[in-house]
Amino acid sequence: VSWLGALRRGLDGPRYRVPILMYHRLAEPMGVDRRYDNLCVSPRAFDEQMRFLRRRGYKTLFASELILAIRDGHAVPERSVVVTFDDGYDNVLSAGMAPLERYDVKASVYLITEHHRLGKPGFLSPAQIHVLDRSGCVELGSHSRTHPKLDQTSDQQLEDEIFGSKAYLDELLGARAWTFCFPYGNYDRRVVRMVRRAGYLGALSTRPGAEHRPRDLYGLRRIRVVTEPIDSFARLLHG
Ligand SMILES: [Zn+2]
Repeated sequence: VSWLGALRRGLDGPRYRVPILMYHRLAEPMGVDRRYDNLCVSPRAFDEQMRFLRRRGYKTLFASELILAIRDGHAVPERSVVVTFDDGYDNVLSAGMAPLERYDVKASVYLITEHHRLGKPGFLSPAQIHVLDRSGCVELGSHSRTHPKLDQTSDQQLEDEIFGSKAYLDELLGARAWTFCFPYGNYDRRVVRMVRRAGYLGALSTRPGAEHRPRDLYGLRRIRVVTEPIDSFARLLHG
């Protein structure tokens, strides 16, 4: 049995244990709508969490850096962690940028490109996206054009969401190797095929967990962070 286990491990490639933290809004929970509150981490708690990463010697990687390491079988530093933001809210800049710079933390931010193109209130403007991009501590990625459940779209819509958002990012920031993040975490084989065909390096899901293998590159697991005491945050990183 053990040789079979070893063979399986060999075929699967090495395992990486790297928490990919998932944030949405940096705002105070309102205590009214739990679905809204679950997407909020207060600016004060975020600052404390980033300070914790710095003080405990965590090394932050962009999602693209982790994906390339896994793809190519390269080692990552001990205590690596990835910080991600979904949806491109403007408080990532107003409340997030200062702690990221203060504690030397990198973050990957996933944009819903039509919101930014059309100037939807509460979302990053194209000028603000440029500020994040130039900071050096943020990489941008695609979270689709309009944030649909991709596994429920027609083939034409799917192509439009995945290729269209990439074309927008190429135009806004210059062509580069982008990563993708599935809206609502919804995906299936058809969605993954399209994401690969468009040339994305890999994609993030909302499946919980911190272990990754090469076969998971288009569906990496993440850990949802909510406002909570710092000792719970520490447990999230180890859990
Ligand atoms: Zn989203």
